[in-house]
Amino acid sequence: MKLLHSLATDPMAVLAGCFIWVLVVAWVLSAIGWIVTGEIDALTGIVVLGLAIGLGMVTIAPPVPGLGVWIFLGAVVTTLMFPFVRKAMTRRAMMEIDLEQIQRLCEGLKTNPGNTGALWRLAQLTYHMGLQGQAFKIAETAVDQMPRKLFPAEHREFDQWKAAVRPSVIRPAHCIGCSIPLTAGTVWCPSCGRAHILDLARGRWFGPNTANKLIGVWALALIALVGLPLAGSLASVSVPLAVGSTVGLIAVGVVMFVHLLSGHGGTR
Ligand SMILES: [Zn+2]
Repeated sequence: MKLLHSLATDPMAVLAGCFIWVLVVAWVLSAIGWIVTGEIDALTGIVVLGLAIGLGMVTIAPPVPGLGVWIFLGAVVTTLMFPFVRKAMTRRAMMEIDLEQIQRLCEGLKTNPGNTGALWRLAQLTYHMGLQGQAFKIAETAVDQMPRKLFPAEHREFDQWKAAVRPSVIRPAHCIGCSIPLTAGTVWCPSCGRAHILDLARGRWFGPNTANKLIGVWALALIALVGLPLAGSLASVSVPLAVGSTVGLIAVGVVMFVHLLSGHGGTR
C-alpha cells in the first residue's frame, strides 16, 4: 500500500526509483568490463561501482524528498556522456602509439641526424599532435633535401602546411632539462641532450587527459549529490557521525580526483 500511496503522491520519484536500476546495472557491467580490459584501473572501477550502487539506493530512499528525481536525471546525463568518454580514451591510446613512434624516430635521428625520411615522418606526427610550428621547421629541413620531382606528395603536403601554419606559432620553446630556449624544429637539446621534440609531444598528451578529468568531475559531483545529503540526514541521529562521514566523503573525493589527475586512471 505504501508503494501505491507514493505512486499517487509522487509518481516521478517512483519511476525514477525503478528506472535508476536499469542504469545502475548498465554502469556496473561497463565498469567491470573496463576493469577486465584494463581501460580503467581497479581503484577507479571500485569507486564507480560503489557510486552506481549508492546512487540506486539513494534514488529509492532519498534523504531529502524530491532528490531522487534529480539524481536520476544526473544518472541519465552521465549515461549519455559515456560514448564521449570512451572516444577520448581511444584517442589517448592512439596518441600513445604516436608518442612511441616519435621516441623511436628521435633515437634514430640521434645517430643519423640527416635521415630525411625520419625527419619527414617526425614532422607529420608532431603536426597532427598540434605542434604545427615545430613540425613546420622539421619538415622544412626534410623537404629541402627532397627533390620535388621525386617526392611530389611530400611537397604537396608541405605546401598545404605553408598556407595553414601561422608565423606566430613558429617560436622557440624552452628545454625541460636545462630551460634554454630552443628554436622551433629542434629535435635534440644541444646543451643537455634531452629529446626536446619528444618532451613537447608528451607535454601535449600526457598529464591530465580529458577522459580522466571528466570521470574525476563526475565522481566529485556524485559524491556531493549522493553522499552529502545522506551524511546530513545522519545529523538527526548523531552529529559527530554526520561530520565524520562528511569529512570521509570529501577525503575520498579528493583522493579520487588527485588519483585521476595524476594520470593513473587509465592504462599506460
Ligand atoms: Zn636542454
